[in-house]
Amino acid sequence: MTTFIAAGSNLNDRVQYLLFAIRVLQEKNYCITGVSPLYETPAALLYETAQDDWNKPYLNCVIQIETDKNAFDLLNDLKQIEHDLGRNNTARWAPRPIDLDIIEHNLEQIDTPKLTVPHKLCMKRSFVLDPLSFFKKISPEFLYSNTHQPMVMGILNITPDSFSDGGENNHFDAFEKKVDLWEKAFIPLIDIGAESSRPDAVPIPSEEEIKRLSKIFDYMKHKEKKIFSPRFSIDTYHVQTAIKALEAGFDALNDIHGLDDPDMLALAKEHKDKRFIFMHHDDITRQSLKNTVADIEHWVEEKINLFEKNNLPLNHMTFDPGIGFGKTACQSLMILQQIDRFHRFGLRLLIGHSRKSFMKIFTPKEPRQKDVETLGLSVKMAQKVDILRVHTPVEHKEALLAAAHLENQFF
Ligand code: ADP
Ligand code: MG
Repeated sequence: MTTFIAAGSNLNDRVQYLLFAIRVLQEKNYCITGVSPLYETPAALLYETAQDDWNKPYLNCVIQIETDKNAFDLLNDLKQIEHDLGRNNTARWAPRPIDLDIIEHNLEQIDTPKLTVPHKLCMKRSFVLDPLSFFKKISPEFLYSNTHQPMVMGILNITPDSFSDGGENNHFDAFEKKVDLWEKAFIPLIDIGAESSRPDAVPIPSEEEIKRLSKIFDYMKHKEKKIFSPRFSIDTYHVQTAIKALEAGFDALNDIHGLDDPDMLALAKEHKDKRFIFMHHDDITRQSLKNTVADIEHWVEEKINLFEKNNLPLNHMTFDPGIGFGKTACQSLMILQQIDRFHRFGLRLLIGHSRKSFMKIFTPKEPRQKDVETLGLSVKMAQKVDILRVHTPVEHKEALLAAAHLENQFF
């Protein structure tokens, strides 16, 4: 019986409290089948009674479990964990070491004074729906509300010119340092690529790509798997590289060729537990502006048909409209303006606008110096997409958390 539990903490070492709850559930023989990435969200405040120092951000996640126990026994176990973790300030909105709610239990409907399942407020709480969407499709009208938070995906390029201090070892040290830094900042996703996809970049063969990534593959194989470590995707369109990466323990594949290659599709069929990002990359620069989005929608429809025919789990597929790939600057801008049109597909939606040259429309700066402009767009786009793929994930997370406070309710 599949059950989803929402967990949140906003006191002291929040990660340790969440990990403790997961460990105790395991000890009580609940089979943990998945834990979503962490989402950091503002605390909801009750104006009359809340003290200012209660207003500390929460870390939230959703835990997926399999159990034969009934919902009331589970609730008792959850209350016991809350109690053991010292949740004793009963004032509403007081900071909590842990809050554990049953969101869904074996698709049962329960409505008693003690327990309501599905949880009554669940559909109104983005801090539940966002992590829940990691496991199951959530209707867009509930998911993309004004409190929705996207996941931030940090871009890590392992190209010879990507780390300025150069040299093989420095190169790897710099990689490890960055991963460490991003992990501490709760960046949920890291996308690693070894080939530049800039319009003027020279393509490299998969052998060269694999060579550049060999240390990273070793690192992935031996890395200690922690529950809340970032999830890694490999950014490649070479099947040979993708095979090696998934074998090494990468969680996802990011294919700028949109899984067009039948061998890549076959790989997706083989790895139904992994996630796949497919990007639109057809050259549509000659298409009229007014047909741009409709054209891409049509492409997505065909992809979905293909995925369904191949029994690929759509919840594991992420669509990227490919800002700047085979598009004019105006077309890229238009896709961002009309991004909601892609919601109806029910796919996870990623945008990769970071440092792209279409921003020449509003500034003549070099793409590398467009992080402020990127962040400006990100804040505006945040409630409409699931993943923001960016070069400055830490700054993004900070900016998005600050902006999220403006949606906070005072009662
Ligand atoms: P909230 O989780 O809404 O912030 P509390 O954790 O303080 O509020 O509320 C806990 C109470 O809500 C519990 O005593 C429990 O009996 C009741 N409750 C009702 N439905 C659920 C559910 N699905 N999951 C957890 N607690 C629930
Ligand atoms: Mg609760």
